[in-house]
Amino acid sequence: MQAHLISGLVLAGGRGSRMGNVDKGLQPFRSSTMVEHVMARLRPQVGPLAISANRNLDTYRAFGAPVLTDEMADFPGPLAGLETGLRHCATPYLLTVPCDSPFLPSDLAARLSAALQEQNADVAYAATQDADQRVQTHPVFCLVHADRLPSLSAYLAAGGRSVEGWLRDLNAVEVVFDDADAFRNINTLDELRGLEQPAFPASLAQVASCINGYDPDALRVRDAQRIIREFVQPVRAVEMVALRASLGRVLARDLVSPINVPAHDNSAMDGYALRGADLPQAGVATFKVVDIVYAGKPSAVVPGPGECVRIMTGGVMPAGCDSVLPQEFADSGDDVAMTVRAGAIRAGDNRRLAGEDLNIGSAALKVGRIIRPSDLGLCASLGFAEIPVQRRLRVAFFSTGDELRSIGEPLGEGCVYDSNRYTIYGMLQRLGCEIIDMGVVRDSPQALEDALRTACENADAIITSGGVSVGAADYTKQVMAQLGDVTFWKVGMRPGRPLAFGRVTSNGRSAFLFGLPGNPVAVMVSFYFFARDALLQMMGANAPLPLLQARSSEAIRKKPGRTEYQRGIVARSVDGTPEVRLTGAQGSGILRSMSEANCMVVLHDEQGSVAAGDMVDILPFEGLF
Ligand code: AMP
Ligand code: MG
Repeated sequence: MQAHLISGLVLAGGRGSRMGNVDKGLQPFRSSTMVEHVMARLRPQVGPLAISANRNLDTYRAFGAPVLTDEMADFPGPLAGLETGLRHCATPYLLTVPCDSPFLPSDLAARLSAALQEQNADVAYAATQDADQRVQTHPVFCLVHADRLPSLSAYLAAGGRSVEGWLRDLNAVEVVFDDADAFRNINTLDELRGLEQPAFPASLAQVASCINGYDPDALRVRDAQRIIREFVQPVRAVEMVALRASLGRVLARDLVSPINVPAHDNSAMDGYALRGADLPQAGVATFKVVDIVYAGKPSAVVPGPGECVRIMTGGVMPAGCDSVLPQEFADSGDDVAMTVRAGAIRAGDNRRLAGEDLNIGSAALKVGRIIRPSDLGLCASLGFAEIPVQRRLRVAFFSTGDELRSIGEPLGEGCVYDSNRYTIYGMLQRLGCEIIDMGVVRDSPQALEDALRTACENADAIITSGGVSVGAADYTKQVMAQLGDVTFWKVGMRPGRPLAFGRVTSNGRSAFLFGLPGNPVAVMVSFYFFARDALLQMMGANAPLPLLQARSSEAIRKKPGRTEYQRGIVARSVDGTPEVRLTGAQGSGILRSMSEANCMVVLHDEQGSVAAGDMVDILPFEGLF
């Protein structure tokens, strides 16, 4: 059933008595309100969307959907909202959901409508099974034929008040969903607060204790990555954005196709639509042309035996036709008759099937996907004007070091321009983060503390560079440790051995912290191999880095026991295999080596020296956003 045939109604008219008579729908929940979460989940599944509410009407109206107040005066239950909704319903079907179910399934409408049609029922409603296989019904998640209004009015007039009671009068079908949590409604303020606060692991030490032989001064790359992965938490806040604005953003839930794409069987070629069974077995056959079909202009003509229809690419296949003879395959043909030779095509050729691109009710795009140009087109083909995406991750960053000068300042003796802030800016920008550039922070405990506190109060994550090694003027470690749960690692890698990681807190706000080393290449390597995945995880994105293989054109000296990230240039060799050579000097301060490279050569812990001709793992830069 197509989404535009269904009106959505969010039931927010109750008294919220178990929450102390608060207006449940308006309770804050994960950066917006409960009702907005429900609307965001329902909107892609239905055509018109309305809210049933009886208080705070202006607030509800501001959410951009019509607000319907109960027309039945003395009864505040869901059936009163449903009755009003049915009276105002301009589509053949109405789907109701409660305002306190922010996790409702994204395939609710698709599955209920499929069952309703299949069983030719009046109503379809949701159910789940508990751990003991007992069925729990959720009758307020129901899809009802709009013309069943008289039966509801009669039930209410006779004093009936329960949804279950009314459903007993009807031909109702129960649809069992797997995910019981999706129907969880939130009844108490405590429950609401409990969901609002993501559960943080108690401490980094606890997470680290899962690593066998954990030693912060000799940590393997993969163990550091694992600790980070287990410690960071996704930021959960969803916003609806216009389709074009969703490019590069992270999809916040599965997008379920409300329609078949294409909607009808249609022609893949300009030619003649016919019944495959009429094709000649030998010799030639001549067909009478009985109509012409253009894309977007279907024909009602049903060709009989020996008849065909001239059809253009994208034209809807006439009833009974299953094959298209491309016009250049016809022996002769015009708008009156067409002649075809045996074997020109097979039955079924050149027909695109309804739903072959996307099937109604299937997930067209999965949650966590970073939206690409093809996805924009896919969403457009489904008619989605707005897309639910995760809110942008806010990342604050600064450089530390008294020797650093910003562009525009004179370079005093022994000073360097601050380049890390620019590479970090570029890397964050490519990830689609909201960026807070805090400049250069001097090597003083007070300046560092102030900067960290400001960053922490304004961002989800903080990235610093410099000051995490053992230099005497590096107060960074001391200040970071004071502000939260931060550990300092020496990671078995080159470049980029020192790394600070943890969570800092200031005035009740906390942020994950990545203290990257100061050397310009080390900053980039640590960002890509530690911070990047963690930031994506916080963004709710699923975008692992693909390691490919290339043949090394040269010998590379390497000690086992640490991971080395060398800068390389990969190209296609004469025999077609990718071949990689290093960019020359590989010092951790030589940023030119990154700029000249088009890939990183990853030499793993256990690996020793590489001989010329050996295969090595590489991470191509292209595609790294
Ligand atoms: P540190 O870890 O603070 O001891 O810094 C290590 C090296 O990286 C020193 O040579 C610093 O001058 C250099 N460095 C630190 N931060 C930056 C930066 N933002 N831009 C360029 N070089 C830096
Ligand atoms: Mg420094």
